Amino acid sequence: MNTFLPLGKYSFGMGDRFAHQGKAQLQACILATELGASFIPVWNKSNREHTFIGTEPASTRGAADAAVSALGWQQPYHVDADHIRLETVDRFIPHSDFFTIDVADSIGKPPAPASLAAFVARHPELIGTIAIPHIDQPFHTTREYVEKIAGKFLLAVQEAGVIYQHIAKAKGAANFITEVSMDETDSPQTPPELLIILAAIADEQIPIQTIAPKFTGRFNKGVDYVGDLTQFEKEFTEDLAVIAFAIQKYGLPASLKLSVHSGSDKFSIYAPMRRTLQKFDAGVHIKTAGTTWLEELIGLAEAGDDGLEIAKEIYAYAIEHVDEFCAPYASVIDIDKAKLPSAAAVNGWSSTQFVDALRHDQKNPGYNSSFRQLLHVSFKVAAKKGDRYLNALKKHETVVARNVTENLFVRHMKPLLLGQ
Ligand SMILES: [Zn+2]
Repeated sequence: MNTFLPLGKYSFGMGDRFAHQGKAQLQACILATELGASFIPVWNKSNREHTFIGTEPASTRGAADAAVSALGWQQPYHVDADHIRLETVDRFIPHSDFFTIDVADSIGKPPAPASLAAFVARHPELIGTIAIPHIDQPFHTTREYVEKIAGKFLLAVQEAGVIYQHIAKAKGAANFITEVSMDETDSPQTPPELLIILAAIADEQIPIQTIAPKFTGRFNKGVDYVGDLTQFEKEFTEDLAVIAFAIQKYGLPASLKLSVHSGSDKFSIYAPMRRTLQKFDAGVHIKTAGTTWLEELIGLAEAGDDGLEIAKEIYAYAIEHVDEFCAPYASVIDIDKAKLPSAAAVNGWSSTQFVDALRHDQKNPGYNSSFRQLLHVSFKVAAKKGDRYLNALKKHETVVARNVTENLFVRHMKPLLLGQ
C-alpha cells in the first residue's frame, strides 16, 4: 500500500461558504477537545460550491490557516477538496491535503471484460460463505453475484485509482488523505457490496482513509434524518464490521473509517452512531457544510435591524425562485411548499419569529423545516449580495459566531461523542 498522510480517529468536516466562520467553527473543536471529544477539523468545499459562489480553493486554505493561527490550534487540521473528479481536481491540488474522490457517476458503467474477469479470479475469498465478526449471519455469495456487483462498481473504483495517482504524482503520496465517495447515487450500498468495493480499492493501491457510502434513509440538507432507525443502526454496524474486516484482509490503512456526508443535523441517528462506534472502537468522519451558512442567517436575524433585513431579503428572493433553487437538490430536500410562508408574511416577522422558524430546534413550535431547507439551498442569493452580505457578517460577527459555534459544539459534537 502507498504511504499517506494519517487522519485522526474523529474528524469533523465543516463548510464555510463565505469563508468568514473559520474561527467560530474551530472554537467548537476547541470546546469539544476540552471535554475529551477530540475532533480534527477539516474544512471542506466542493467544486460546485466554489463555482456557485465564485471563489477559488486558495481562499479555503487561507481561511483555515488564519483561524488556526488566530486561535493557536496545535493539532492537525485539513482542507478537503470535496467531491472532485479528474477534470476538476487540478485547481485544488496546491491548497488541499484531503481529497474526496467522487466516482458516483461511474457506478453501473461496465468495466473492461478482462479486468472484471481478473478481479473475480483474484478474489476467490469473496465467493461462498463469508463470516465477518460482529455480523450475526454470514453472507452467502455466488460467482454470479460477485461478477454482477464488481461489474457495477469496478470501473468507478478504477477511475478513483486514476484520480488518486494523478494527485499522488503532483503532491506526493505522503502529503494527503484520500476519501472515496459514493453517496450521490440512487441506492445505498449493502455491506457485501461495500466489501467488494474495498477489495477493488485495495487492488488499486489507494490508501483510502475514509469512505462515504450512501446509507439507507433520507439525508436531507440541514434537517433531521428520515428513515428506519433500527435498519440504519443495523447497516451502520455491518458497515463498520466490513471495514474492520477489510482492513485486515486487504491491508488497507488501519485508520480507514466511514465518512457520513450530509452529516449535519441528523440528530436522531447520533445516538445509534455513537453506540456503534463505541462497540467497534471505530473512528468516524462527519461531513457538514450548509448548517454553518444557516447559522450565519440566524445570527443576522437575531442581531435585528439591518441584519434581520438582509435575512428577510434573502428569503423573499428565495421564495420567488423556489423551483429554480430546489431543482439541483431534488433528491436531498423535502420541502412542503404549502408550509412556506409568503415573503410578505416574513417581512412582518420579528427577529425572534425568524430565528425560531430557522433554528434547528424541533421542540420549538415556530420551527419550520421547509423554510429551513429552502434557505439551505439559497446561499447563491447571499453570494449575489456580495459585500453587503459580507459586511453584515463582519458587523454582527459576535452574534453570528456564537450561533455557529454553539450549533456545531452543542447540537453536533457533544451528542456524537459524549452522548449529551
Ligand atoms: Zn457528499
